[in-house]
Amino acid sequence: VVSLAVINIGELTTNDPKIGRGATGRRERAGVVIDGSRVVWVGDSNAVPAADIAIDAMGAAVLPGFVDSHTHLVFAGDRSGEFESRLAGLRYDGGGILSTVDDTRAATQIELDNLARARLGEMRRQGTTTVEIKSGYGLSVDCERTLCEVARGLTDEVTFLGAHALPREYVNRRTEYVELVGTSMLDACSPLCRWADVFCDIGAFDVDESRSVLLAARAAGLGLRIHANQLADSGGIALAVELGAASVDHCTFMSTRDRDLLSGGDTVVTLLPGAEFCTQSRYPDARALIEASVPVALATDCNPGTSYVTSMPFVIALAVREMGLSVDEAVLAATLGGARALRRDDVGHLGVGARGDLSILEAPRAAHIAYRPGSNLTRCVLRGGVPVDMAPDASAREVT
Ligand SMILES: [Zn+2]
Repeated sequence: VVSLAVINIGELTTNDPKIGRGATGRRERAGVVIDGSRVVWVGDSNAVPAADIAIDAMGAAVLPGFVDSHTHLVFAGDRSGEFESRLAGLRYDGGGILSTVDDTRAATQIELDNLARARLGEMRRQGTTTVEIKSGYGLSVDCERTLCEVARGLTDEVTFLGAHALPREYVNRRTEYVELVGTSMLDACSPLCRWADVFCDIGAFDVDESRSVLLAARAAGLGLRIHANQLADSGGIALAVELGAASVDHCTFMSTRDRDLLSGGDTVVTLLPGAEFCTQSRYPDARALIEASVPVALATDCNPGTSYVTSMPFVIALAVREMGLSVDEAVLAATLGGARALRRDDVGHLGVGARGDLSILEAPRAAHIAYRPGSNLTRCVLRGGVPVDMAPDASAREVT
């Protein structure tokens, strides 16, 4: 076991109010020591205990690794043409998912693994150290199982999303498909998963269909997440609260009643502004959520149709510029918020005992993430105390 000290940190964000100022637990001229994979010491840079290796941050900002709690990384195919037509006036209705299903079913597991690893590598090089990955582009028992296997090779946070869309072969057999998802498909996938998710929205699955799948998943021991109210007021937010889901995601359409249901609870609202940006849709009312004490997370929603975004820094910049979050609120939502959405207390902060996941920026303050959108300001990333390979052609080799 090797110990590693990061010294001369200009601005350290810990998200631990016991360590520094405010909710971000911020302090200047700081140091961090990681022993093995865990943070063992945080304090003044001139008092850092001896360690086997020292990294000199040279006055740069350091923050916890990003927790991207909503991604669809495992898919094949290309939908840049659909993106272009949508910008030329076509409205997004969720139908494009089936074209990705065709391409994903035609790909081999090795091809899918290589594609997902390359995307994960992009994420890591921009400071993401924990990622949730959903299935959902197979929509058959075998293909959904394959997608879960690929995801499980890349993360512990695998989500079964068999109820992502109705596959073509079930177009006149909705009830049969919903039944399949909650029985044999769930049985094939649940041993590889920690979570189940449902696309509860217009053009996808209604509240009763979603509830039946989620109840089956809960009985199989999975935690629950819901894609809700992205395209319309689907009733998905109330369902998330009813079922005690860990996270309800999108929430573009949200009533005062929905907000009251969520207020002060532990169902996190995961905001995905990359989707609104890429589809030119209206943004959810993030300020109203924060004012109502609803816990919020920020994630990329990385997917080939509506948000082919791997960058949490870009998502933070959007949240600040387009949804009125302060930089501190956005950074908290992208780290601690994501951890809460995954019900994890070992990531998303840099308190003693946390996993040694952090980014050293090419900037003196975390605010530069929003202030300088479009530049990758990530100089160095540690994951479990181990430096991430920052070479652009490095595939993400680490497991979990
Ligand atoms: Zn999604």
